[in-house]
Parts: sequence; structure tokens; C-alpha cells
Amino acid sequence: ATPTAIMVGTGLGAERGVLFKNATALEDAARIDVVVMDKTGTLTTGAPEVTDVITAPGTDSGRVLALAAAVELESEHPLAEAIVDYAKAHGVPTFSATDFENVAGRGARATVDGQYVIVGNRGLLDADHIELGELAKHRDELAASGHTAVLVAVDGHAQAVIALADAPRPNSADAVRALHELGVGVVMLTGDNTGTAERIAHDLGIDTVIADVLPEDKADRIADLQRTGKKVAMVGDGVNDAPALARADLGIAIGAGTDVAIQTADVVLMRSDPYAVSTALRIGRGTVHKEH
Ligand code: ADP
Ligand code: MG
Repeated sequence: ATPTAIMVGTGLGAERGVLFKNATALEDAARIDVVVMDKTGTLTTGAPEVTDVITAPGTDSGRVLALAAAVELESEHPLAEAIVDYAKAHGVPTFSATDFENVAGRGARATVDGQYVIVGNRGLLDADHIELGELAKHRDELAASGHTAVLVAVDGHAQAVIALADAPRPNSADAVRALHELGVGVVMLTGDNTGTAERIAHDLGIDTVIADVLPEDKADRIADLQRTGKKVAMVGDGVNDAPALARADLGIAIGAGTDVAIQTADVVLMRSDPYAVSTALRIGRGTVHKEH
């Protein structure tokens, strides 16, 4: 693109809340075939709330919530924050955790009040060969309705499912539609489980879902798509998205995202509005078009 076209494109972007970091970003935006979007914090607000706590028969629900909250107090994950807030609001006793261990993309473990407590997803409980028993059915139902189900195990026994809901951003469905209108494919990429991810994707009009992805594997999933000959943009907000943002042909960060995501990206959406992804691609196409 000519220097003038680049200047015009950058200015247009700034007006519409799309910050292109350089000329290459504008040119790459013109050639994107597929947009991969992180779920939590990108398509959703990233501020989940606890909607239900379901306990196994014979479990003291106040105590299991207190134990889970004590572990999550040590974690910085948005799900952890929601669980701590819910426990506080319900006035459960406060314990402190020792031997805390964070397991990226899975959950956390610690010793609380003399018991070994695991809080996280299915994979984390599987690692300790813990059976879900009665709770499996609840977990599947919650996932099917778009909830994230966090499991709690105490001394090797699954005792509760904590259901969390993370609302889609108001513009997410329109954002997907606008990309489809540009002839661009949309893929959801998430560390959340397949059931939950597929339900939310369906509601937003996204037909391709890559779920249950560990943070360190997100960049590999981008590379897989690139190997099919496609130019891939990645949209994300989290620390765990940074390698994928770097790997993509165009990395796009949500403005309210983490510093690492914003620094790594080629484009920043200042208003944290996923609709601006289509705006970015349209501006890119306009800029490159002016060459000819
Ligand atoms: P995303 O890619 O959707 O932003 P993450 O990779 O951060 O998600 O986490 C993936 C999954 O791991 C979560 O959906 C949750 O099931 C589980 N998980 C991660 N950290 C925690 C935690 N501190 N407490 C409970 N569950 C967690
Ligand atoms: Mg995220």
C-alpha cells in the first residue's frame, strides 16, 4: 500500500477504535481468511458469576464451598475470583490454604484445614483418578446449557460442581455475522470444555470450535490452520493467548485485555468490542485496494 493509503487507514482505524500498530498490520488485515477467537474475555465479558453449587449426596455444601474458596483465593483466574466472591456473599467460613499449586488451563490444588482440595476441570480430577459419580450428569447438563462447570474434590472424592456463567459480550453475535459477510471463517478457540464451548458458539453463530486446549497449545492450533494455506487472525485478551497472537498472521488484542496480549498484538481494539474485528479487516482491504 502507498504511504498515503496507510496514513488514511491508520487514521480511519483510530476514529473507529482500531489501533493498527504498523503498516504491515493494515496489509495483513486485508488478507485474512479465518478469524480465531478466544472465548473467555473475548467473546464473553470474562467476568463469570456463580449460578449454582451442586453437591454430592451426604456432602456439607457450606464446607465444600469454603474449602474451594480457600484454594481459589490463591489463584488469579477469573473463575477463581467469582468463586471467592460467591463464598464471601454466602458467609461461609474462611480458611487459608497451604501447598497451593496452580495448574495452568486446568485449575488449582492445595491443602485446606487438613484436607487435600482440588478445584478445576475434568482433566485435573482425572489426573488423580477421581471418579465424578453422581456429579457427572450435573456437569454434562451444565455444560450443555453453556455454563462452565468447576469440580471440587476433597481427599480424593468429588464433592461438588460449581456452575459459572460468563455472558457473551453484547456485540459478539453481530461480530460473527459481520465476519461471515466479509467471507471470513470464524473459529472459537478455548481452554473451556467442549460442551460449554459448543453451546456458546452455537448461540453466537460460530460453527467451528476448538475446545479443551491447554494454554501452551493455543499457538499450535493456529499453526495447524496456517498449514491448510489460510491466513489466520487471532483475537484474544489473556496471558494464555499471547503465543497464539504472536503465531497468527495478524494478532488482535481486546483493549481491556492483559498487558502481554496488548503488547504482543498487531492490532488493539480500544473499545473491547469484537465487532471491531470486522472493521479492522474492512479498513485493511480498503487500504490495500488503493494500491491499484
Ligand atoms: P480460556 O481459554 O477459556 O480463557 P483457561 O485456559 O484459562 O480458559 O482455563 C481453561 C479451563 O481450566 C477453565 O474453563 C476451567 O475449567 C479450568 N480452570 C483454570 N483455572 C481454574 C481455576 N483457578 N479454578 C477452576 N477452574 C480453573
Ligand atoms: Mg481469554
